[in-house]
Amino acid sequence: MFEYDNRIAVGVSGGKDSLSLLHILKEIEEEFPKSEIVAISVDEGIKDYRDEALSLAKTYTSKLDVEHIIVSFKELFGLTIEDVVDNELGITPCSYCGVLRRRALDKAARMIDADRLATGHTLDDMAQTALINIFRGNIKGLTTFWPGGKKVDWFVQRVKPLCEVPEKESTLFAFLNSIEFQSIACPYAEDSMRTEVRLFLNKMENKHPGTLHTILKTVIRIAPNQNLHENVSVCTICGEPSTSTICRVCELIKMR
Ligand code: SF4
Ligand code: ZN
Repeated sequence: MFEYDNRIAVGVSGGKDSLSLLHILKEIEEEFPKSEIVAISVDEGIKDYRDEALSLAKTYTSKLDVEHIIVSFKELFGLTIEDVVDNELGITPCSYCGVLRRRALDKAARMIDADRLATGHTLDDMAQTALINIFRGNIKGLTTFWPGGKKVDWFVQRVKPLCEVPEKESTLFAFLNSIEFQSIACPYAEDSMRTEVRLFLNKMENKHPGTLHTILKTVIRIAPNQNLHENVSVCTICGEPSTSTICRVCELIKMR
């Protein structure tokens, strides 16, 4: 996933997975003098939730002596998640949040000239995303499922080093290393399809151990078939890479 001299941006939300990832990467990075780590947090503007997470991220990055930058939806897109909660189209806050956060992280990683953008997605997250893509008929999401990263023009290469680590283990790691992380859930999490899929997959994994790994391995075998270079142009509104004339970020901002 990494080269010895990479400048690595790490997405840090303040949760157990991203802080555990930062802890592990920092330890490895110290063995490679030419590599660098910068932590990036995104402030979506979620009331009574994100402030605590950002403060935990700040405390831990400073403890590890890692540079930490925070970008916000407000400054990048002119809105917060609270502004879109009651949209008339019934789009869930998570639909906004996921698309905008992805863009925010990518922009921030480009801003600091990162070679890699590492996120703390665990095995559980990967399997959930795979099923959600199937439920939504999102073929592209399935065929660009590269946890190990792939160099694609325009974007900073994204890697998910914890992709084979079950969430239970990353939680245990955080406890064993006395990492203080945010334990309350986002107030909007209940509305998301991901929560339903998570409950379903937890049941399946308990009853049929290995289900999560099997899903991940299956999707990875399908993924290399898609060429992402095909049909990428730029969004006519924001100038960011997009497969249609208006990118999903601009579409969502216009729709609210
Ligand atoms: Fe954003 Fe939804 Fe996650 Fe809350 S639960 S942080 S709204 S994606
Ligand atoms: Zn756009």
